[in-house]
Parts: sequence; structure tokens; C-alpha cells
Amino acid sequence: MAAYISVRLRRQIEQDAGHRCGYCLSSLRITGTPLDAEHIVPVARGGKTVRENLWLACHRYNRFKSDRTHASDPLTGEPTPLFNPRTQVWDEHFRWSRDGTEILGLTAIGRATVLALQMNNEYVVESRRFWVIAGWHPPLD
Ligand SMILES: [Zn+2]
Repeated sequence: MAAYISVRLRRQIEQDAGHRCGYCLSSLRITGTPLDAEHIVPVARGGKTVRENLWLACHRYNRFKSDRTHASDPLTGEPTPLFNPRTQVWDEHFRWSRDGTEILGLTAIGRATVLALQMNNEYVVESRRFWVIAGWHPPLD
């Protein structure tokens, strides 16, 4: 369910997120499509449409995440909270593969999130290949 987000709130979130996806760090400039304002705790789980619970995410990730807050760590099978791009540090949970096309989970949270959100789906990996050639990717910060 899409919640109403005012223009002002949307701008605030864009600024907080640095105009890029909190999961793959892709900038609005290279995705060529608007990023979703994503509920970190989904509305279906009682998440509110407030600045503290919103971040930017690629539309596909938002769809794959759906109403989940947890997913299985593929290494242990344990239920694990999904990455919180507002409060957690990307580098502590993920890194880029050597060729820059895939995101690798470093922790249970990282691994569960990569799998649940399909962060290495074939379409995005193909795009990243071109971004690497263009020198736009992986992001430096
Ligand atoms: Zn993304």
C-alpha cells in the first residue's frame, strides 16, 4: 500500500539519503528512474510515514522487501533483521565484488538483506557492468 508522502517530507528524505538508494547506493542520476521512499518498518507492520521511518530505495528492492522486517541468513538459516539504511552503516554489512557488479553480505544482516531484496538480480547486475565501464561505479563513499 502506498502511503501519502508530502513533497516536503519527500525532499527531507532525499536529502537524508543523499539522493541515492540506501541498499545499493545507486544515485538517482544513474538509475534513470525515481527511487521509492521506502518504509523501513513497513506500514503493514505498524511503521509510520515519518522521516525517522523513511529512506530511499530502488523500486525493485522495495517490492521484494514487501512487508518484511526479517529474512533468513542464507548461511545459518536464522531469521535476521533486514538492514536499516537510516541507522546502520553500509560498509559494516556489505561490500562490492571485485568487478563491482555484485553486493556481498559481510554479516548475517548483510547476507539476509542481499537475498531478500534480490540486490544482485540479473537486471541490476547488467546495468552495473555498464556503470563500471563508464567509471560511475562502485560508489567511492
Ligand atoms: Zn538500490
